[in-house]
Amino acid sequence: MKGMFTSMKKCLSLIFAVLFIVSSGMTAAGSDKTSRKDKKIDPIDDLFADYALVAPPEPVNLPIIMYHQISENRGRLDTYVISPDEFEEDLKLFKDNGFTTIAVSDLIKFVTKKGELPEKPIMLTFDDGFESDYVYAFPLLKKYEMKAIFSIIGRFTDMFSEEGVVKHINYSHLSWDQITEMHKSGFADFHNHTYDMHVIDKRRGALPRKYESDEEYEKVIKDDLGKLNEEYKEHIGVSPEAFTCPFGCYNDRLKEAVRKVGFSVIFSSAQTMNTLTGDPEELFKLNRFVREHNKNMDKLVSSWDKYYNKDKENKNNDNK
Ligand SMILES: [Zn+2]
Repeated sequence: MKGMFTSMKKCLSLIFAVLFIVSSGMTAAGSDKTSRKDKKIDPIDDLFADYALVAPPEPVNLPIIMYHQISENRGRLDTYVISPDEFEEDLKLFKDNGFTTIAVSDLIKFVTKKGELPEKPIMLTFDDGFESDYVYAFPLLKKYEMKAIFSIIGRFTDMFSEEGVVKHINYSHLSWDQITEMHKSGFADFHNHTYDMHVIDKRRGALPRKYESDEEYEKVIKDDLGKLNEEYKEHIGVSPEAFTCPFGCYNDRLKEAVRKVGFSVIFSSAQTMNTLTGDPEELFKLNRFVREHNKNMDKLVSSWDKYYNKDKENKNNDNK
């Protein structure tokens, strides 16, 4: 597919080059200094502009990794807890395979045509805002100059920011002071995992309840997510653009309610590759691969080869 786009692009470039030579010859005759706005639109220029708009964009593959907690206590390692060594090995692996970590704002710039993504972007996401993000992940991100996205639960951060609170690395969450320091470094990108909806009781995470009207549900979402957004503004001066679904619970009503609060990105937990064409709608359900203890990350990264070798394969086929 990518190869087809490349040959189409080459073909279009040739047409453009010919049209450009012809059109410059034509306009040179009546050359003037008037601005493009005042100038009468040359039909050939117009054709050029139309082609530029319809040229198919190159789809971008974006793997996203989902982390939770990091611990040095080997007895605690499981699906949601990995060791600091495992996290460091991941960073090296991604770097060695040519990946560049990106922030949420990079994705938004990409879909709003205000910026481009690096050749092989990757996103590292941490859910729940545990203090181990600061103690173990943050120093390694600085060491390797890589970025990660942290989605915190507002109520726990408020609780662990209180003076005199009893802390333990097994269960403590980030404080606002730690968040501020991480945010200022440029290696930590902070987003919303609800203020206080990270529970499964009458509703599952941030999903609507059975007989809740859209109006009632949208108010619940606006109040809860909005409260954490306000606290972010107060502490770090920016409001998050991404929402991370508690427990991966996602449906269309949640998507619409979250969109209405002003978010442009939703992280879900479906474990597959994201292939983005540049449509902003694609950011409302981003898939993520869970990084659990003892997961064979070499195997995972190799399984993505099929997404990145298409160009090579197509070129080889062309040469046959
Ligand atoms: Zn969570």
